[in-house]
Amino acid sequence: MSRLLIVGSVAFDDLELPTGKHDNVWGGSASYASLAASLFTPIDLVGVIGEDFPDKHLQTLRGHGISTEGVERAAGKSFRWAGRYDATLSSRTTLDTQLNVFADFKPKIPASARRAPFVLLGNIHPSLQLEVLEQVEKPRLVVADTMNFWITGEPTALKKLLHHVDVLVINDEEARQLGEHHNVSRAAAAIRKMGPKHLVVKRGEYGALLFDPEGTFFAPAYPLEDVLDPTGAGDTFAGGFLGYLAHVDAKGGSVDRAAFRRAIVAGSAMASFCVEDVGPNRLLTLSGTQLRDRLGQFKQLVHVEHELDALSLLR
Ligand code: AMP
Repeated sequence: MSRLLIVGSVAFDDLELPTGKHDNVWGGSASYASLAASLFTPIDLVGVIGEDFPDKHLQTLRGHGISTEGVERAAGKSFRWAGRYDATLSSRTTLDTQLNVFADFKPKIPASARRAPFVLLGNIHPSLQLEVLEQVEKPRLVVADTMNFWITGEPTALKKLLHHVDVLVINDEEARQLGEHHNVSRAAAAIRKMGPKHLVVKRGEYGALLFDPEGTFFAPAYPLEDVLDPTGAGDTFAGGFLGYLAHVDAKGGSVDRAAFRRAIVAGSAMASFCVEDVGPNRLLTLSGTQLRDRLGQFKQLVHVEHELDALSLLR
């Protein structure tokens, strides 16, 4: 099996959703990404939790084939993030970010995970993401996520990290910010000059774009009637994306451009489940059959019966 190393935050979130307030929800970039990726491949999770973090969540992770050997329990409180969504769930405001145990965290990659061919650097301080890369042995594919908090707060560390990243996954607002252009395609071109050969731009309910040396690919998001909580959708997307690629590799397939495109759809399908319930709840009960069904629905969504370029269509 192709193991996937995931590093990121393991957290408590206080969420203000149109449906009400939810405090102390289990969250964090690495929690969402690991749960999503674990459907496809075994995971080594690296992160830090405080004394307040319940054992039952660690047991849940292990129950999903996620090794928690690299999750350190430190003195103090776990990372905490608070956010408020608008009535349409299309924009959110960060109300509070408390690094807590992350402030002094030094990631230690367990010996068994140092040779993981696939590495997902979930959203945390870019210096910590770099420290992880210093400890691993020549991974085949490094995927990184980040957010506006680090783009504005730690631009130097982030730029340094980007030289070592193969695929950067960010949302479109962050892409515009990092690429310093309001046009996403131009921003993408600028970001790809900073290091990553591939850039995935997540556009929430409007799908995801892949920019790579050969061009641009787009996949829609699955149109759902009931969206409860978008928190973690981006991390779930990243976990599903790289988990799928690790799975392809384990089955002897090639991790090529076609696989990247399918991985975008796999990530979008996983994210569509994440938003159906509060926190990571939906991911906890998601079965392989349900995922297979949704992937089938995705295929239907973009399927076109006849060739669009048939000359007979022209006047
Ligand atoms: P997403 O909705 O995919 O952007 O991810 C939301 C998750 O990211 C939440 O569960 C938060 O705990 C976590 N998070 C928010 N801000 C940060 C940050 N600055 N560093 C690391 N994780 C964060």
